[in-house]
Amino acid sequence: MLTRRNLLTGLGLGVLVAGFDPVGRVWAAEGPFERVPHLDGELVFDDVSTDNGQYVVRKPLAVLRPKSVSDIEKMILFCRKHRIKVATRGRGHSTHGQGLVAGLLIDSRTLNRIHAIGPDYADIDAGATWLDLTRAAYQKQLTPPVLTGYIGLSIGGVLSMGGVSSTNREGLIVDRVRELEVVTGEGRAVRCSHKQNRRLFEAVLAGVGQFGVITRAIVDLVPALPMARSYILSYADQQTFFKDLRTLLARNEIGDIFGQWLGGVPHIFAAATFDPVNPPNDAELLRGISGTVFQAVDLDHLTYVERVDTQVEGLRQSISWNELVKPWFDVWLPSSTVERYVNEVVPALTPRDVGAGGWVLLFPVQRAKLTRPMMRVPDDDWVFLFDILTASERPGPNPAFAKEMLARNNHLFDKARSLGGVRYPIGSIDFSQRDWVAHYGEQWPEVQRAKRMYDPDHILTPGPGIL
Ligand SMILES: Cc1cc2nc3c(=O)[nH]c(=O)nc-3n(C[C@H](O)[C@H](O)[C@H](O)COP(=O)(O)OP(=O)(O)OC[C@H]3O[C@@H](n4cnc5c(N)ncnc54)[C@H](O)[C@@H]3O)c2cc1C
Repeated sequence: MLTRRNLLTGLGLGVLVAGFDPVGRVWAAEGPFERVPHLDGELVFDDVSTDNGQYVVRKPLAVLRPKSVSDIEKMILFCRKHRIKVATRGRGHSTHGQGLVAGLLIDSRTLNRIHAIGPDYADIDAGATWLDLTRAAYQKQLTPPVLTGYIGLSIGGVLSMGGVSSTNREGLIVDRVRELEVVTGEGRAVRCSHKQNRRLFEAVLAGVGQFGVITRAIVDLVPALPMARSYILSYADQQTFFKDLRTLLARNEIGDIFGQWLGGVPHIFAAATFDPVNPPNDAELLRGISGTVFQAVDLDHLTYVERVDTQVEGLRQSISWNELVKPWFDVWLPSSTVERYVNEVVPALTPRDVGAGGWVLLFPVQRAKLTRPMMRVPDDDWVFLFDILTASERPGPNPAFAKEMLARNNHLFDKARSLGGVRYPIGSIDFSQRDWVAHYGEQWPEVQRAKRMYDPDHILTPGPGIL
C-alpha cells in the first residue's frame, strides 16, 4: 500500500488528491480509496506546515483551495465521516500553531471576492485581506472603523481572533461585524447575525476557529478622512509616559493612541485624522503634555493605515523577516495593574527579547465598547494589550531560541495572570485545557455547548488545544 511519505516523495507537492484511503488513513492520488467529492476548487498535497512563529511544524495531509462555499461544506462532511481534523488558514500570522493541522488544511486565500461596498458596509469573502478591503473602500472615501496595525491579515483570521486596534474607543474589529456566513463543523453553510442564529454568530467571533469556518462577512464601513497627523512623543521615564497616556485617553480628543518602546525608551504614538481644510491644532491637542515631540508628520489615509505593512515588507526584504523565529507574547492587562506589570517587565527586557524585527507595544482599549462574549479581556474600564513581538536575530530554524522564549512567555503570563491579565490567543504561550477553562471563565459552559452544537465531532481547529 502507498504510504503518505511515498506519495509525497513519489508524486511531489501540488499534486491533485483524488481520494482518501480510510484503512491506511492517507489521501491518495490513485486508488484504492474513497473518491473525494467533485470540487469547484482543488485538493492538493502542499507543504503548508508552519506559521509566522516559525517553530511549530505540523504537516497537513492535504490542502483544500476552495473556489466555492460548497467546496468547504463537502470537504467538512467528508472529513467528519472519516474523523479527519480540519483547520482554516488565513494568512498564517498567528505564531503558536493555532491554524496548523495534521489533517485537512483549508487555504482560504482562494475565496477572496469583495461582493459589495455599500454606503456604510462591505460584503466580503473571508479569504480576502483587510488591506484589500481598505484599498477598495477608500475608492469610495470609506474605511473600516477599526483596523489592526498590520492589515495584510485575512478577514476570517482576524474575526476568529478579535482584531485589536490603536483606535481606542471603537471596540475591536469583531465588534464591527453585522453578519457572517459560516460553514459549521457539521458541514452546513449558515448565515448568522445578532438577529439570526445569534448563538453561532457570538460563538465564531473571536472563537479561535472552534465552531465553524467563516466564509463571508458583512462589516461596518465609515467615512474616511483623507489625512492623518501622526505624533511621536518620547519619554525619559515610564511614570511620565503613563501619566501622559492617561491624560490623552481621558481627554478623548485624539482617537488613535498607543505605546511603543524603541530601544527600551517609551514613546506615545498618537494620530489625529483630518480634512486638509481643517488641520489639527498641535498646541491645543498636546497642551500640558510632558513628552518630547519627536515627530509630527502628515500622511494621506492609505499611507497611514498601511504604514506597518510597508515596514514589514521592508523587513521581509532586508532581514528575511518571514523566516525569523517569532514566539510572540500578547496579554491583556487591567487598567489597575498595567503600570505595575509594565514597569517590572519592560526594564528587564534585553535586545535579544525583542530583536531587530520585533516590537514592544501597548494598546489601550475602552472596555465598554467590547461586545463579543468569546473575546476574553480583564474587567476594568480600560484594558491594555501588551505585546512583546520577539523576533530571532537570524532567519532559519532555532529550536533553542524558541524554547527559551516560550519559557519566558509562560513565566511572563503567570505573572500577568496573578495581576488580572488575560491571554490574547494570537501568540505563543503554552496552554493546558485547564488554562483554557480558566481563560473562558463563566463563558466556558457556553463554549462547550456551542462546540456540541456546531462541531459535534470535534474536527475543527485542534491547534490551540481548547476542546
Ligand atoms: C506584523 C503583524 C502585526 C499584527 N498586528 C496586530 C494588531 O495590531 N492587532 C491584532 O489584533 N493582531 C495583530 N496581528 C496578529 C493577527 O491579528 C493574528 O495573528 C491573526 O490571526 C492573523 O490573521 P491571519 O489571517 O494570519 O490568521 P491565521 O493566523 O491564519 O488564523 C488565525 C486563527 O484563526 C483560524 N482561522 C483563520 N481563518 C479562519 C476562518 N475563515 N474561519 C475560521 N477560523 C479561521 C485559524 O485556524 C487560526 O486558528 C499582527 C500580525 C502581524 C504579522
